[in-house]
Amino acid sequence: MRQPPGVLIVEDEPAIAELIAVNLRHNGFRPTWAMDSASAQRELDAVLPDVILLDWMLPGESGLLLAKRWRAHPRTKAVPIIMLTARGDEADRVAGLDAGADDYIAKPFSTKELLARVRAVLRRRAPEQVGAVVRVGDLLLDGATYRVSFADQKLKLGPTRFKLLQYLMSHAERVHSRSQLLDKVWGDHVFIEERTVDVHVKRLREALGPQAGLMIETVRGAGYRLTAPATLPTPVQASA
Ligand code: CA
Repeated sequence: MRQPPGVLIVEDEPAIAELIAVNLRHNGFRPTWAMDSASAQRELDAVLPDVILLDWMLPGESGLLLAKRWRAHPRTKAVPIIMLTARGDEADRVAGLDAGADDYIAKPFSTKELLARVRAVLRRRAPEQVGAVVRVGDLLLDGATYRVSFADQKLKLGPTRFKLLQYLMSHAERVHSRSQLLDKVWGDHVFIEERTVDVHVKRLREALGPQAGLMIETVRGAGYRLTAPATLPTPVQASA
């Protein structure tokens, strides 16, 4: 039988950590608890969890810094992170997602909702996340090495932009509504507004540069589409 999914709780308040741990355990998860960044790092070095629940406000290094570091590290970059935080305004949410968090829960939260979100990020470890190479026109994305290039020029993308581009490229030439993108790229999205998608698309276009940026079209009243320039061959999916 498959092992129950491991959840690392990084939370400095014992009462909250305990509440989460008890609920996770009763629902078939294996929770472990780290109360600061150093013990969280030790825990990750020892065993990789299936999901990380990460408090934003921690003594010493903030959850935001930890999320950035873990996303940048080859060992931890694929582990889904759900940020737990009292912060709720849009700038903070965008910062959390930009740092590489997969989802975001504002405190106080219901344990039911927390469990639903943990299940959602586990469900969502979509096949396109695991290592496929996708090419659309001159745009090339390698899911295994997290590299993106356009006409052989390397491009630098943050984790959220990477995920968004990966989704658009894996489903090129199709129009995706904002809510579909939220669903597919961010998962359950109670706390993320559709406007946030526009912010990310805008930044993705900027990161892609003037030429490749044009490949992402705004389809009025419908959403977004990634499309190869007409003179180039239609999208080809190759496996890694
Ligand atoms: Ca805290």
